[in-house]
Amino acid sequence: MRKHGAILERESDRTENERRSVNRESLISKLPLIIRWIDHTLAEHAAAARPIVSFGFKRLPQFYSSALLLKAKVVAVDAVPVPPLRSLGLPEFGAFELGNYRGITFKDTYFVERHHEDDESLHFHELVHVAQWARLGAENFLLAYAEGLAIYGYRHSPLEAMAYDFQNDFDQNCPPFDMESAICAKLNEI
Ligand SMILES: [Zn+2]
Repeated sequence: MRKHGAILERESDRTENERRSVNRESLISKLPLIIRWIDHTLAEHAAAARPIVSFGFKRLPQFYSSALLLKAKVVAVDAVPVPPLRSLGLPEFGAFELGNYRGITFKDTYFVERHHEDDESLHFHELVHVAQWARLGAENFLLAYAEGLAIYGYRHSPLEAMAYDFQNDFDQNCPPFDMESAICAKLNEI
């Protein structure tokens, strides 16, 4: 996902003491509930989902395979949906739940705020998460994301740091490279 700047600064101000390790067993027991919420949310918005190729971005195909771009779907919304983690029994992720995000990815679909839907860089960022979801699978993605969030905070959690680092390269007009291979290589280092 991609946060608004102000929230991002607040997150990066968190101290080591504020960061907590996550109760892995508790988290694993909640995964089916989170995945059910995600599937319900995706079904609810299925009619509004557009293929990313329909946006006509010129640079994304230089970085991502046509297979991934044909699979990825985008839903433009006023406010992106965030899983109700507190009511699902994960109060330790309350701050994350209450954050403001420009984009959020669930499986092969991502939501973007409507007034950012023309931002190719935001799409590039969310497509990193689509590739992460595809590579890890739903349960492993959610576990890795949550554990990274608990230990490192939002901006420096490994799956987000990866997306932001690649996005920064994209924003600096780096020469095109094979993103999916690069993402797989990074995931193997985590
Ligand atoms: Zn992200």
